[in-house]
Amino acid sequence: MTDDTATLLTQNRDRAFPGIADLTIDITQDKNGVFQSAESGQTVSYTKADIPRSFGCLNPKCQDGGLDLQRVVIAALSPENADRDLPCPGHEGLTDDEAPCPNLFHVKVTIVAEDAEG
Ligand SMILES: [Zn+2]
Repeated sequence: MTDDTATLLTQNRDRAFPGIADLTIDITQDKNGVFQSAESGQTVSYTKADIPRSFGCLNPKCQDGGLDLQRVVIAALSPENADRDLPCPGHEGLTDDEAPCPNLFHVKVTIVAEDAEG
């Protein structure tokens, strides 16, 4: 799987998810309720029709965090990435290596591939 940044930046879902007829993504973050949000431990689901480009982090101190859902879905074309925990890429300090965001996202992606035979 190549990482085609030009393709990944599109807002057009058919171009954003080539070869994917439909998908479901379930995301659960902050399972232990560390950030005491109403969304802590709640599972949020999207399909290809309503998936947003990015998914925010609940940690109020987090900077540059959250998930790029397009990348998560593309990565999930590899079965080993379809159900996994992703650490938040954000940080709590002024610099990236000062204090990594402790939040964890559990993502489960189900992909329906387009019929290659048309
Ligand atoms: Zn975060």
